[in-house]
Amino acid sequence: MPLLQIRTYGDPVLREKSRPLDKSEVNDSFRDLIASMAETMYGAEGVGLAANQVGETRRFFVADIKQVTGNGQKGKRRKDAARRELLVYLNPEVLETSVEDEAATEGCLSIPEEEAEVYRPLRVRVRYRDLEWNEHEELLEGLHARVFQHELDHLDGVLFVDHVSRDERERMAGALNRLKRQTRKALSSTAK
Ligand SMILES: [Zn+2]
Repeated sequence: MPLLQIRTYGDPVLREKSRPLDKSEVNDSFRDLIASMAETMYGAEGVGLAANQVGETRRFFVADIKQVTGNGQKGKRRKDAARRELLVYLNPEVLETSVEDEAATEGCLSIPEEEAEVYRPLRVRVRYRDLEWNEHEELLEGLHARVFQHELDHLDGVLFVDHVSRDERERMAGALNRLKRQTRKALSSTAK
């Protein structure tokens, strides 16, 4: 499976709201796309990858929580390839969130090098479909809940930098502007 190009901050597709996926779209070529996304995510050492991060404005994402060892919350997360367990979420939604929230450091494959503290509900009740179009409802907690919320945000055009404090935002402003300019430049040169 070929590696897909990960869209970076400044690419308008990251600000688009994705549309729901229809059952008829879940065919062999869709499964190939999921396999490519998984390979792209693992190749980039990511914990999750949403469809619009590879230019697809449909509601789905892939993730892998199992490969993360160590505490997975603060500091560097270590990845262990032997512990991989790919999770695929189609038409994901959050049904309920806990009042209790938690701060943790987040990063994003579309915003390389940058990390910041983000507060999110500690627990979320979620609903989604799998590749067999079976519907699931689950209660997620901790890192799993955080990754689900981060990836679901992507499908609504929201990035983790939208959730950070004003101080963090100011600290990252220079790097974000540089990245945006780079992305726009690359986009305009491929459009010609
Ligand atoms: Zn992200």
